[in-house]
Amino acid sequence: MKAYLALISAAVIGLAACSQEPAAPAAEAASAASEAASEAAPAETMAPADAPASAASEASAADVAAAPEAGNCAVTVEATDTMQFNTKDIQVSKACKEFTVTLKHTGTLPKEGMGHNIVIAKAEDLDGVLKDGTGAGINADYVKADDARVVAHTKLIGGGEEASVTFDPAKLAGGEYKFACSFPGHSSLMVGTVSLVD
Ligand code: ZN
Repeated sequence: MKAYLALISAAVIGLAACSQEPAAPAAEAASAASEAASEAAPAETMAPADAPASAASEASAADVAAAPEAGNCAVTVEATDTMQFNTKDIQVSKACKEFTVTLKHTGTLPKEGMGHNIVIAKAEDLDGVLKDGTGAGINADYVKADDARVVAHTKLIGGGEEASVTFDPAKLAGGEYKFACSFPGHSSLMVGTVSLVD
């Protein structure tokens, strides 16, 4: 058990070094750790050595979720000139009576060339919503008028602009929901999930 803890500590130190310094010291620490493991630990106890690494990757995934502050019923999502949202998951608290998503276009390109919006729909409806949005055209913000499949959407904006939409979280009950930019071609990169959370 002591060898075990030493191994985990070594791995943690290796990770810490990794985030602050060039690769070489981390690689040394990692190889030292694996040498220590092969000498001190029986083969079947090797697996938990992976634990620090997987915990770290879960932490970084949580970092990119657009989670509201506790008791806050609003979130801001940024979009860029390189067709990226800054999150792949918008978390909506069930406790909110209304929830507001604000889209901020941090780029400089005009909406005719690099327009962005946020359209929320059931996962299985999204392809149809986007296809009909393309047909509706830029003057309709690439969203078909009165499309019942659309839970909520912002208008289409260009660089430096901002737009918000407010909706009832109860509309997200019973199903998997997604958000995407409906500008033609953008949803291959600009797409994510909308999760109801406690
Ligand atoms: Zn877009």
